[in-house]
Amino acid sequence: MSQKIIFSGIQPSGNLHLGNYLGAIKQWVGMQNDYQCIFCVVDYHAITVPQDPKVLREKIIEVAKIYLAAGIDPKKSIIFQQSAIKEHTELAWILNCASTRMSDLENMTQYKEKAAKQENPGVGLFDYPVLMAADILLYDTDLVPIGEDQIQHVELTRDLAKRFNNQYGQTFKIPEYKVRQEGARIMGLDDPTKKMSKSAASENNYIALTDDPDKAAKKIRRAATDSGSEIKLDWENKPGVSNLLTIYSLLNNQEISEIEAEFAGKGYGEFKGKLAEIVKKFLTDFQKKYYNISNQQVQNILKKNSQKLKKLSLAKITEIKNKIGIN
Ligand code: ATP
Ligand code: MG
Repeated sequence: MSQKIIFSGIQPSGNLHLGNYLGAIKQWVGMQNDYQCIFCVVDYHAITVPQDPKVLREKIIEVAKIYLAAGIDPKKSIIFQQSAIKEHTELAWILNCASTRMSDLENMTQYKEKAAKQENPGVGLFDYPVLMAADILLYDTDLVPIGEDQIQHVELTRDLAKRFNNQYGQTFKIPEYKVRQEGARIMGLDDPTKKMSKSAASENNYIALTDDPDKAAKKIRRAATDSGSEIKLDWENKPGVSNLLTIYSLLNNQEISEIEAEFAGKGYGEFKGKLAEIVKKFLTDFQKKYYNISNQQVQNILKKNSQKLKKLSLAKITEIKNKIGIN
């Protein structure tokens, strides 16, 4: 591969939402011409919290289909399923033993947030960042495009790679990351102080990409807003309105200041009504493409790509095993 390599992924752990699209997939689409992109359906990450096997199987196909419908071009980019390449889990184990300390993982915000929802969380949830590091390092990734919530994990990836290189000699490329500034963090519609999340307790938290467009419009009209009546970007005092303004701006390709001017002197109702229409149109267009892609098409792409990546991952894991004295 002569172009620089991008790696990113999304868990098939629930309904993909506008946060995943605006914070991740939308930026991937624009990167395909300049980089060799590898986009993964990270199913081994999804099982760090309990999943229903039947639903999980469907979600794996659904996520890949969403990548395609959103504009990821299978002729340019490599879309694949994480568990099809067993070197991801092999490398995670090696990094667990060779580079990772308990204290690294105890500090992870995502772990703390997700563990708090369970009585006795699994070891996999704790170890999640190491598997993510393995995903990235296995392909000599140059750049990881992410939402703000993943910065800590990519920082850890860099640390683990450096530690390994220091101990065993140059093996891993140290990846950079790129956070999309606006839309880096789309917040929950029901609680704009927490990020929009697939694993949220209430479906009023998010707009799923597969939501019925009319239902999604209702969610926008019902979204939490703040006291006062001004439509103004002010994250500290008006997180609800600021979140809706961000979604408006990104979906309608319009500057926030322009939207503020348009709604000067108007109330929340009118603003939300217009955004509801924008969201409805976006989903209707997106879903037209989504429902036109067959499961068989998706399965063929996943299979072909795992054969392609197998060669790369096998070469890399062999090099790594040689370094640590296994082989
Ligand atoms: P889960 O709640 O199961 O962790 P998630 O909604 O956080 O799900 P992930 O699969 O963990 O989704 O993340 C996939 C990608 O989407 C990552 O790049 C992440 O940064 C991005 N992302 C997730 N939530 C948001 C959000 N609210 N705003 C912007 N980007 C987001
Ligand atoms: Mg997440």
